[in-house]
Amino acid sequence: MKITGTNITLLAVPLRRPIRTSFHNFSHAYTVFVQMHTDTGLTGMGWCFAFEERKAAALALLAEDLAALYVGRDPRAVGDNHAVAWKDMNFLGHAGASMIALSGIDTACWELAALAADVPLYRHLGGAATRVQTYASSALWLDRSIDALTAEALDLMADGHRAMKVRVGQADFMADVERVRHVREAVGPDITLMVDANQAWPESVAIRAGREFEALDVFWLEEPVFYTDIEGCARIAAALDMRVATGETSYGSAAMKQHLDARAADVLMPDLQRMGGITDYLNTCALCAAYEQPVSSHLFTEASAHVLAAQPHALMLEHMEWWEELFTDPLVVEEGAVVMPEGPGLGLTLAPDALRKFAV
Ligand SMILES: [Mg+2]
Repeated sequence: MKITGTNITLLAVPLRRPIRTSFHNFSHAYTVFVQMHTDTGLTGMGWCFAFEERKAAALALLAEDLAALYVGRDPRAVGDNHAVAWKDMNFLGHAGASMIALSGIDTACWELAALAADVPLYRHLGGAATRVQTYASSALWLDRSIDALTAEALDLMADGHRAMKVRVGQADFMADVERVRHVREAVGPDITLMVDANQAWPESVAIRAGREFEALDVFWLEEPVFYTDIEGCARIAAALDMRVATGETSYGSAAMKQHLDARAADVLMPDLQRMGGITDYLNTCALCAAYEQPVSSHLFTEASAHVLAAQPHALMLEHMEWWEELFTDPLVVEEGAVVMPEGPGLGLTLAPDALRKFAV
């Protein structure tokens, strides 16, 4: 079995609920969609993205460059193929755009390996969990009025969610606390609530805000401080009884090890594209297990679900609806869990008109 070539298509995928955090204000996910073809007729999918078209176009060029290295190789040799790409990336570096570009290629290669074995990817990875606990994350943005915020929280419950994340990170952190208090009152005590500050706060504010969130039974405080401030994050995690989650903005398992060594947080949430795909995400999962820490995910629900379904120490899959429209069979959420698809590979069917409909 050999890889014969790769199609890379740049898409502008509109966000049903445009993203608005302490950091972001965007309406589209400019997506680099990868289809990796083989001489057996199987095609594997992967994707990466940026929030702006020109940045995504740059990612597409880098992905095409890496994809050429895979031609003629056996997709089932995922680790060997990854090693070839890893070596090639040395000059641009194992972070930033080159790492993001690799993720679409590496994910497509993993899907091909699972397709060749005719099993769902999570089973190919050794997983047995047919459901993965998840939390709704593509809503409850910072621009919502209190009424809109609580109405949206109830909508998410009606969609089957039992956990959800509220964006915080305002300079007036007590205004954030009030927003979360209203959501807590609306959803009741049995719903799991997280908060995400998107790196907005100084350490002292994060600790004060965290104490308020603890009183509202918040499950975790995410990215309280700038992502490179690993020691500061560790001090926050030590000061608070509640969980602190971080890691989505850092690249590769080497950075995750730095977080683990520093005990920077209680939960790491690797981002599939900043891991450069599934290969190094799995390395991070193994590190988390060795350090007795749970592992979560960031964005990329469809592929991350397979990774987490194969990790006994997984804690909460981030559920984003952003790419649902690309597929005829998007993931199903029931009683707060993603139901793992049982089709081979990622278990997703690309909608016949998706690439044309969203092409840039
Ligand atoms: Mg976040």
